[in-house]
Amino acid sequence: MKAGLDPGRKRRRGVRQHLHHHAPLIAVVFMVGTLVGAITLASGQTRSSAGDDATAQGSGITLTAEEQRYLDRLGPLTIGADPDWRPFQYRDRQGQFSGIATDLLELVATRLGLAFNYAPVRDWDEAVEQSRAGRIHILHFLNQTPARDEWLLFTEPLLVDPNVFITREEHAFITDATQLTDETIALPGGTSIEERVRRDFPNLTIFKVPTENQVFQAVSNREADLTLRSLTIAADTIRKEGLFNLKIAGQAPEPYVNRLRMGVLKSESMLRDILNKGIASLTPREREEIVNRHVSITIVNPVDYGFILRIAGVLGALIAVSFYWNLRLKTTNAALRESERSKAVLIANLPGVAYRCRHDRDWTMEFISDGCLELTGYRSEDFLHNRRLSFNELILPEDRDAVWQIWDEAQDSGQPVKLEYRILAADRQEKWVFEQGMFVEPANRHPRTPRFIEGLIIDITDRKRAEADLYRVSIHDELTGLHNRRHLMERLARLAAEQARNGRIFSVALIDLDFFKRINDTYGHPAGDFILAEFAAMLEANVRPYDLVGRHGGEEFILVTLDTDGDQTAALLDRLRIIVRDRIFVFEGQSLRITFSAGVASSQETVPVSAESLIAEADRRLYTAKAQGRDQISHAAPGAV
Ligand code: GH3
Ligand code: MG
Ligand code: MG
Repeated sequence: MKAGLDPGRKRRRGVRQHLHHHAPLIAVVFMVGTLVGAITLASGQTRSSAGDDATAQGSGITLTAEEQRYLDRLGPLTIGADPDWRPFQYRDRQGQFSGIATDLLELVATRLGLAFNYAPVRDWDEAVEQSRAGRIHILHFLNQTPARDEWLLFTEPLLVDPNVFITREEHAFITDATQLTDETIALPGGTSIEERVRRDFPNLTIFKVPTENQVFQAVSNREADLTLRSLTIAADTIRKEGLFNLKIAGQAPEPYVNRLRMGVLKSESMLRDILNKGIASLTPREREEIVNRHVSITIVNPVDYGFILRIAGVLGALIAVSFYWNLRLKTTNAALRESERSKAVLIANLPGVAYRCRHDRDWTMEFISDGCLELTGYRSEDFLHNRRLSFNELILPEDRDAVWQIWDEAQDSGQPVKLEYRILAADRQEKWVFEQGMFVEPANRHPRTPRFIEGLIIDITDRKRAEADLYRVSIHDELTGLHNRRHLMERLARLAAEQARNGRIFSVALIDLDFFKRINDTYGHPAGDFILAEFAAMLEANVRPYDLVGRHGGEEFILVTLDTDGDQTAALLDRLRIIVRDRIFVFEGQSLRITFSAGVASSQETVPVSAESLIAEADRRLYTAKAQGRDQISHAAPGAV
């Protein structure tokens, strides 16, 4: 059986996943779910399902007399369904079938006036066996495969469900998974999907997990970088299991799209045709509502379609420009367009808040979506008309003026505004947010009606933190925690350039540990590392806070002393020399001693001053200190300058 393509087709065997309470990052935007519902709606479908029903049952579906006779002869239909495949179909506690597939089937049956029963089966495999043996009429909700074509006729799809790539939040959007390098994909072992991924994405390393549902856990726990799963199951699991450090990062290519159909016994082609009439009557809106019912995107009546559509526009712009979605959804994910619902679920996974506010100092909110609680810790109602607090009070005091300024300057530009600032959440936690919005004219263009602002705000704290971490790592040496050579050189170059203007005196010292190779040779490399870290700490402790200390490489260090001439710097280093020489370093019970040599050059010595010339001079003197017996400091002879 080509089971691998069916989302969730492998049983989950009672695997319960832990709830992750960390990472409130993806404030799943229920509001946006709402928006999209409304967008589909505004784009032409009738909202009232009662209206739909009337059409369908009235003039919608007419069966021929022959078809009616055929159905009567067939009697109640027997359906084989998977009793354990959430959220598509499963038996609930009362033993009743429930789920997306179940609701779709019921709708089709109602439209056609069909009566049906579920065959009592233990599991999906048994349902397939019964179907093969011709004991049930319909095998419900499966992909068409050549193997299944041998005994089944397939209806049109009841639901199109793409397979999507799931990654952790920080991963870039995936437009072409064949371009990923050094990444690991979590997949359940022994399924056909594993073979296919091996064939289609030889660039990915496969990380096998025992059951399909453990793929999410593997990505969340950093055992793998991504996984491939049905969009519906992904959205459902990410919410239900609270795996909020995961996101939907892109869609797998066309052959990975699930088209979930009914499989009818080969002998019953008329039944297939009748079912197709029922399936054709399903509107995108109905499908979407059924899915949303089960993957818990709340659908609320939107207040103002104009607002919804504008927000969708902003969202579109945001998608186009933002670091989250550097994708070309429209061109590359063609299959996605097949199903409005897909977009709904994708967008519902965007973290953030949609709002509409007045252009006043309070940013008086007229609307703010449910994501508010997740982002700010306050309920949307708290901000509405400044009921409990104003949005301005949420903004970090230091950032309030800048935010005001940016919006003020954008007033007449007609352009969307993008800004980043900090907020203080209810739990006093500081968060970075990215906001994009624009000024909007009110519907009744009375001259005195003020314009308002609409937009979206998303949490970028993790991105900011990652940037800060990256910066910190990039300028520091890992072993000693001192600044690294590159950073020191940059600072030194700046000092040298400024010196030409301000005449500020400074000195540079190169410090090299003596006979350090022997430490490694005698006590081992870890002992050497230990000494390096200890020495770095001593060096830092014995200079002034505004001096610059760094690791120049290996067992060499660099010191830049500000407002200090060569003599003073040499004196400072000589004090350190005594301290280091007398220090006994204890590593794993062994006592070690070291000394160091240093060469000092001062900005007063060379004209023009350059970082290179100072380093070269300090290096020459270091060589002299070594040659003269080590454990000493070499600098310009007093009075030489
Ligand atoms: P001298 O400078 O007094 O002439 O002798 P030396 O033995 O210190 O000089 P040399 O440049 O020959 O050796 C430097 C040694 O420092 C060699 C290298 O193994 C060691 N070293 C460099 N970086 C590290 C490090 O990060 N950790 C450890 N444990 N050793 C390091
Ligand atoms: Mg050395
Ligand atoms: Mg050296």
